[in-house]
Amino acid sequence: MPELPEVETVRRALAASLTGAVVKVVRGQRIAMRRPLEPRLLHEVLRGRRFQEASRRGKFLLLPVDGGGCLLIHLGMSGRLRLTRPERLVEAHTHLVVELDDGRELRLVDPRRFGLAVWLAAGEETTDPALADLGIEPFDPALEDRMPRLIRSRRAPVKALLLDQRLVAGIGNIYAAESLWEAGIRPSRPGRAISEGRLCLLARSIRAVLERAITAGGTTLRDFSGPHGDAGYFAVRLRVYGRGGQPCPRCGRSLRDDVIAGRSTVWCPHCQR
Ligand SMILES: [Zn+2]
Repeated sequence: MPELPEVETVRRALAASLTGAVVKVVRGQRIAMRRPLEPRLLHEVLRGRRFQEASRRGKFLLLPVDGGGCLLIHLGMSGRLRLTRPERLVEAHTHLVVELDDGRELRLVDPRRFGLAVWLAAGEETTDPALADLGIEPFDPALEDRMPRLIRSRRAPVKALLLDQRLVAGIGNIYAAESLWEAGIRPSRPGRAISEGRLCLLARSIRAVLERAITAGGTTLRDFSGPHGDAGYFAVRLRVYGRGGQPCPRCGRSLRDDVIAGRSTVWCPHCQR
């Protein structure tokens, strides 16, 4: 599943490759996704419009066009965007094709259909239900200041609080586990039982693990408009996620894999308190 670093990598690829391109035609079938995909409606609103620089909110991509409004995209569980030449084989589960004036095509591929591609009129970026309740961005410089207030007033396990998109936007299961290990905080610890100082450290850890992953993802960018036309799926060296039973990279003792907040959570009982 694409997490924030993958989405940010795609955003950077789009900012570099899609900005300035004008929409000629939007094609596809009306299908059920997270919300119904409406290619005809997208054609009506996007035709003749020029893409501006892509932005990101949590795990949502916003592709604004001149004159206002944007194409809102979420990659769901299995979604991919490709920016490619039209002669390139259209792979299975390509639900949306945006033909551009320079001859290329932006394609949305999503086998499991948990993704989203909808039009937002100007102003709806702040009112759409998908975006309105999102919390602070991990790269917002105010995160350190706000982290204690967000977490310390709550009794839920800190792992669950990190996954709550209304508190901090864009953190999924992988980077919650990685940043809690980095900060040395036990995932099941209630939010209100963590000191302010340790929560500041957690804020810095979140940013550090996300930045490392985004740096790793940057190496995939050269393929985005190349023959593979892919960006955003890459191998990141994770310290604890998916490594239950293996030695902790810090102390060498066995990592545990427990269900916390309904999700598999790998952590080190020795290093995380
Ligand atoms: Zn350890």
